[in-house]
This record gives sequence, C-alpha cells and structure tokens, in this order.
Amino acid sequence: MGYVDEVLEQVKVKNAAEPEFIQAVTEVLNSIRPVVDANEEKYRKEAILERIVEPDRQIKFRVPWVDDKGQAHVNIGYRVQYNNAIGPYKGGLRLHPSVYLGIIKFLGFEQIFKNSLTGLPIGGGKGGSDFDPKGKSDREVMAFCQSFMSELYKYIGADEDVPAGDIGTGAREIGYMFGMYKKLNGTYEGVLTGKGLSYGGSLARTEATGYGLLYITDALLKDHGDSLNGKTIVVSGAGNVAIYAIQKAQQLGGKVVTCSDSTGWIYDPEGIDVALLKEVKEVKRARLTEYAAARKSAEYHEGKGVWTIKCDVALPCATQNELDIDDAKTLVSNGVKVVAEGANMPTTLEATEYLQKNNIFFLPGKASNAGGVATSALEMSQNSERLSWTFEEVDGKLKGIMENIYKNISEAAKKYGREGDYVCGANIAGFEKVAEAMLAQGIC
Ligand code: NDP
Repeated sequence: MGYVDEVLEQVKVKNAAEPEFIQAVTEVLNSIRPVVDANEEKYRKEAILERIVEPDRQIKFRVPWVDDKGQAHVNIGYRVQYNNAIGPYKGGLRLHPSVYLGIIKFLGFEQIFKNSLTGLPIGGGKGGSDFDPKGKSDREVMAFCQSFMSELYKYIGADEDVPAGDIGTGAREIGYMFGMYKKLNGTYEGVLTGKGLSYGGSLARTEATGYGLLYITDALLKDHGDSLNGKTIVVSGAGNVAIYAIQKAQQLGGKVVTCSDSTGWIYDPEGIDVALLKEVKEVKRARLTEYAAARKSAEYHEGKGVWTIKCDVALPCATQNELDIDDAKTLVSNGVKVVAEGANMPTTLEATEYLQKNNIFFLPGKASNAGGVATSALEMSQNSERLSWTFEEVDGKLKGIMENIYKNISEAAKKYGREGDYVCGANIAGFEKVAEAMLAQGIC
C-alpha cells in the first residue's frame, strides 16, 4: 500500500465518527499524490502526512449562559488549532446546531491549505459551538458570546491564534466577543478579525469572500477567452458570502437569478434585488418569504432547488455538501460551464468528480473563497500598523490575491500534468508551502 493510502486508512479508523473530516482529508490526500510520490522517502521519514492530518491541539469547553426568562443553558465550545507552520492559527468560528468536533476539524484542515494559498503568513485553525443564534435576543447572543470568550481567551492572541466569523458569527457576535476578550486580557489587540470599522475592522472585509469568489471566477473565464458579462448565474445561500457574491457578479455584468436559505429558495428571473435581500437578511434577519412578498418578479419555493435552474455559472455559497451528484447531473444537462465554491466543501466528492469528468471548470472553496481569510490577514496587518487602508486599497489587494491564487493553482496543476484540474492544483500549491515549512522546522 502506498504512503497516501496508509495514512488515509489510519485517518478513517481513528476518526470513524467524523464523515466530513474523512471527506476533506480524502479529497486533499488523493489530489496531492503526485507530490507525495515524488518525495515519498523524505515525507515518510519525517511523517509529514501523519503530522499534517493531526491537529496541534483540540480545545473543547462548556459554555453556560442564561436566557431572557432566567433559564440556564449549556452549549459546547470548540477551537481546533490545526497547523501553525507558516503563521499564527487563523480561521472562523461557526455557530450552528450542526457543529461537532468533526465539522470543526474538517474546516480547520481545509483552512491550512486555503491560508497557504493566499500567500500570506497565516496558519490553519477553526472553532465554534452548537449554539444557534437564530431566534435569540441580542442580550441572549451577548450572554453566549461572553461566556464563550471567557474560556477561549486563554488560548488565542494576535500572534498566536486569530479567530474570525463564519456561519452564524457576524459583526454582532464578533463585537461581543472582542469586548469580552479586551476586558479579560486587558489588551487592545487584533485578536479577532471581522471587527466593526470603529474598533479596528477593515474596510471591504464584509464583502471580501463574495467579491473574491467573483474575482477568481472572472480570472478563470478570462484565461479561457470568456468573461462574466451576460452570464446567467445561480447562487445558493443568502448570508454574508452569497449576498456579496451576488453584488459583485452583477457589477461584472452577470445576471444572478437565485438565492436560498435553510428553509427555501428564490427564483427571480429579472435578477436578484441585492438591496432588498440585504434588508431582509442583514437588517430584519427574516426568511426569504419576505423577499418574495416584496418583489413581484420573484417566486419562492420551499426546500432545495436552485441547481434546477438553467445557468452558465453555479456558485454554492451556503454550507457543506449542498450540491450532490443529482444536482451535478442537472447542472451539466442544463449546460453549466463553471462551478465555483463560495462555501466550504459545498460539493460532495462524487459531484465534484462528475463535474470534472464532464469538463466543467470547477474551483474548490479553498481557492475560490480564500478572499475572506486573505482580507482578514490584511485586517491583521492594519491592526499591527495601527492604520486603516481605504476600501479601494483593500479591494485592490484582494483582487490581486485572487488573481494570483488562480495563476498558482493553474500552474501547479499543469506542472504535475493535470492541466485544468483546479482541485489538484489548489491542494498541491497549498500543501507544498506548508510541507516545506514543516520540514525546515524539524519534528515538532
Ligand atoms: P451566513 O451564516 O452568513 O450564511 C449562511 C447561509 O447559508 C444562510 O443563508 C443560511 O440560511 C444558509 N445555510 C446555512 N446552513 C444551511 C443548511 N444546513 N442548509 C441550507 N442552507 C443553510 O454564513 P456565511 O455566508 O459566512 O458562510 C457560508 C459558507 O461560506 C460557509 O460554508 C462558510 O464556512 C463559508 N465561508 C465563509 C466565509 C466568510 O467570510 N463569511 C469565508 C470563507 C468561507 P439561514 O439564513 O436560513 O440560516
């Protein structure tokens, strides 16, 4: 059995109850085979793969908080500090009832390679809790965030581990957590990113993941003599990533006709009205039924369905495994040209393989949604300098970073004889840099 298969077997045995983690490791290890084969002796001797699949540490803690009626609740908090070979741990905090250790590990593992791809000095980590902010009052969310930080603060720091937002963790939650960190630690430092503009946040961070997704999609299309102009685009999700992906797609001349949330989806053949979507989701925190009620051209459907709409470009921006093999078949038969992941691992392994076999350009999330973490790293730089850059400056750097990621993943795929396989290119380019740093730093 080859080195990759041996390590994959060990991962499956040791983490049998964590299917999302196994899925992420399987995708990465399978696609870096050409590099591992070329360096097998050295990697084996130094146990590079065994070390990279095992987090540096996993922190799990109790988060007690009291609701508005005086009732106490207990949630579980997590922080997985995965790998800091190239910089301080960096990755978001997910607040969603589906969160358990396996989800945080899959996200943290992916984050190592994503962060490496940005070209910036950031390691990989992830955290979160099974707390659901939906339907909670601001005071309840504050109570949870303060309790969560009263444990987490022991393990993070501007040069150590810098968490950020993710599903369920937006500006409100980051604000409450930052306030508590400052109070407990007694320092004013860039320990979290995604902060408000009045206290160290970066312009363009809110837009960054969605904008970055469109910058890299545009770079790919241009490389193939095409552009986003006039393309019909379907987007899933209606959160931070989806909203700003829709906005930038429209600015680049595309027509976005769908969005979705966890209960239903919108088909709006005249194009999504971003201002209305922001009002419904960012201000009212309401369901998409309110969007449909306010817009004549929109149809609302219960459940899942955005991938049934005929399109040129599909952008999954909601959550993991939301685009399966049946969806992939529908997209292909409807003539899709590009699938670019805004969310983390939204496409199942089977669906990814099907899309690639059918010559669809497929951009994996670790490359295509890296704009968020890249801009978080730019927020860290501004905090260290105690300066704030303009929106145009940050946005310009983001565009450059995304174009560079496209170039690097494309070249890495070519170098190993896999031209056009951006999954392989992204994993190889991300892995090579981290592996080199780990080898240079010895067994630790
Ligand atoms: P948000 O919480 O802002 O939005 C998530 C959206 O996805 C919401 O519309 C939500 O619906 C929907 N959703 C969540 N869970 C499910 C589910 N199980 N089934 C169907 N729909 C669901 O999160 P973000 O936009 O920040 O994140 C979206 C994805 O992008 C995640 O995978 C995240 O890890 C990834 N990502 C985010 C980055 C960022 O900067 N924010 C950076 C890189 C990746 P509802 O409104 O009903 O909850």
